[in-house]
Amino acid sequence: MPDRKPFVGGNWKMNTNRTTGSDLARGVTDGVLNIDGVDVAVFPPFPYLLTIRAILRDRGSSIRLGAQNIYQSAEGAFTGEVSANMLKDCGVQVVLCGHSERRHVIGEKDELVNKKVRQTLESGVEAILCVGETLDERLAGHQDIVNARQVRTGLAEIPGSWLERLIVAYEPVWAIGTGKTATPQDAQDAHKQIRTQLAKQYGPDAANRVRIIYGGSVKPDVAADIFAMPDVDGGLIGGASLNAADFVTICKAAATSGRSK
Ligand code: PEP
Repeated sequence: MPDRKPFVGGNWKMNTNRTTGSDLARGVTDGVLNIDGVDVAVFPPFPYLLTIRAILRDRGSSIRLGAQNIYQSAEGAFTGEVSANMLKDCGVQVVLCGHSERRHVIGEKDELVNKKVRQTLESGVEAILCVGETLDERLAGHQDIVNARQVRTGLAEIPGSWLERLIVAYEPVWAIGTGKTATPQDAQDAHKQIRTQLAKQYGPDAANRVRIIYGGSVKPDVAADIFAMPDVDGGLIGGASLNAADFVTICKAAATSGRSK
């Protein structure tokens, strides 16, 4: 079994304000202080990145600072957008690319997501490529085709040497923010199939080193069972990441699962 350290990210989405975000960051930082065996990241809204970075720094935390989105070009006349260099300047170490809300609410397509992944990895930052099928696609039995396509296109022209900065998040759209979680076996099946797709593109050794995390209504009571699956290397957490105690419990579950695999 390759040594894949579990990763847990807290996607705050368009929630919190400067005060509540700061309180949340302090609660998470203090809560995970003595937890080894898991990489933790928080993804605050853009306006609060520097505030949260200062809190993480002041507390000597190893929590990574994440951004929820990036623009695909390096600079220029792109009103309202944020570049890789700007994010790096604010201390961002990891970026979400192709989150389902960006795909399905904002309308991002696979090709655009690929440009964002390329821009992120090229700039030396870690990227989380989010993939996952809709309910209709699952009901039609097309989940494997959809996930394989999103991985294949999302990673087009990405050299294997950049993979050490890549995480894939499997997030079935029907499970995000709905309270419905994939069963551990459904998650395992999808993760295994995503790893098979990675192996087709990069070979089995490289595929075995990539962390594949699960997202979709992960709460403290289900986290341990999902993270126990052999191809599930942690989670991307939305709603439950807004409560420090819940998020810390989920991080602990991931840390424990890593030791037992
Ligand atoms: C997410 O935002 O990536 C997510 C999985 O949200 P939730 O945990 O609320 O379903």
